[in-house]
Amino acid sequence: MYYYSTRDRDRKNGLTAGQAILKGLAADGGLFVPESFPALDPALDPDMDYALFAQKVLAPFFEGDELAGMLGSICNDAFNFPIGFTKISGATVMELFHGPTCAFKDFGARFLACSMERLLEKSGGQLCILVATSGDTGGAVASAFHGRKHLSVKVLFPKGRVALRQRQQLTCWGGNVESYEVDGSFDDCQAMVKSAFVDPLYSQGLSSANSINLGRLLPQMVYYVYASMAYLKKTGKKPVIVIPSGNVGNCTGAYWARAMGAPVGRIVLAVNANRTIPDFIESGVYEPRSSVRTLANAMDVGAPSNMERLFSLFGGTAGARENISSWSVSDDEIRSTIRAVWDEDGYIMCPHTACGEYVRRTYLTDCDDVILVSTAHPAKFDTIVEPVIGASVPVPPALSRLLDKPSVCRSIPADYHRLF
Ligand SMILES: *Cc1c(COP(=O)(O)O)cnc(C)c1O
Repeated sequence: MYYYSTRDRDRKNGLTAGQAILKGLAADGGLFVPESFPALDPALDPDMDYALFAQKVLAPFFEGDELAGMLGSICNDAFNFPIGFTKISGATVMELFHGPTCAFKDFGARFLACSMERLLEKSGGQLCILVATSGDTGGAVASAFHGRKHLSVKVLFPKGRVALRQRQQLTCWGGNVESYEVDGSFDDCQAMVKSAFVDPLYSQGLSSANSINLGRLLPQMVYYVYASMAYLKKTGKKPVIVIPSGNVGNCTGAYWARAMGAPVGRIVLAVNANRTIPDFIESGVYEPRSSVRTLANAMDVGAPSNMERLFSLFGGTAGARENISSWSVSDDEIRSTIRAVWDEDGYIMCPHTACGEYVRRTYLTDCDDVILVSTAHPAKFDTIVEPVIGASVPVPPALSRLLDKPSVCRSIPADYHRLF
């Protein structure tokens, strides 16, 4: 199986999975996509152990790659936490937040870290992962890479712009993870990472772990295959899937799962006040823009980086427009939805998941078979959720373990030389 850049129209420069994972972004600036989508293994059964299920879904994507023989051990190592399914009125909630940092990004970050560790074990190299974060990514990456051989992490976050609990998850690691509190904005942090990557003094041995990396995308396909097969087995129907989206990496996993033949019905993207995608569906013109701040901050994206993969999958903007459904949700609607679900079902949702639920109850009223994807545990967003429901959100054990650890970080000005 070879992967090609979305910009490599003649498909000349193919890489295998492991090579594409180490490379991150293609040399021409495009994103890696598989040459084709192989059909699902007929032996797949959603009653299987999840790690084994994942290995079977992913095996064809690693054909001919040096990681092929290690895929079983990678899946066992990466997927060491459960997926939750909860019924609320009108939908099944798929909870992807039972990993070590209580967000769905644990799936991708852990699979990427496990893959990179094994690749470097073979080549004997050493890599430092640089990550700028304003929320969930940094915590998931730090946790996934913490204690791994041949790898270290530098996490950069903007001073005073991350919630207290988020800050704790960025600064509680020690060992091979260093945290930097930057006197600047998130954009300054990102600019520092970019400068370091192109400075010959440092660029050797640096790598990234952002959501365009193939190693984060592939594992996000697996839970859609799993959930849709389990739903079909139980009800005889294909579920519609509603996905809270920002950089559209998570939903790209769902489209790829469907391309392999997973029994997924319509795929619906819920976004916050960052309306780039719904505006594109409405007008046919794709206009990336600056992001605006919302209550669902992990989705504050105005120029979704994985859109290029969706345009590639659907053969351009016209095809993408036919295949993508998306609606935007305001902060007031997020609050009222958190409150309504709490009143009606006694269930607590994070602000991101609430975007999905608002879209479901507003635009999908005629649909009884919906899987609503829950991307984070509400306890990570206690300062937003608790005033809305007037009750405290119980903290899950994984999160309280992190909150109890000592916090260490360095305060630096927005100058990338200070990272080295
Ligand atoms: C990252 C994130 C999202 C958005 O996922 P994308 O893959 O960027 O679309 C949604 N919710 C939460 C909680 C996240 O951390």
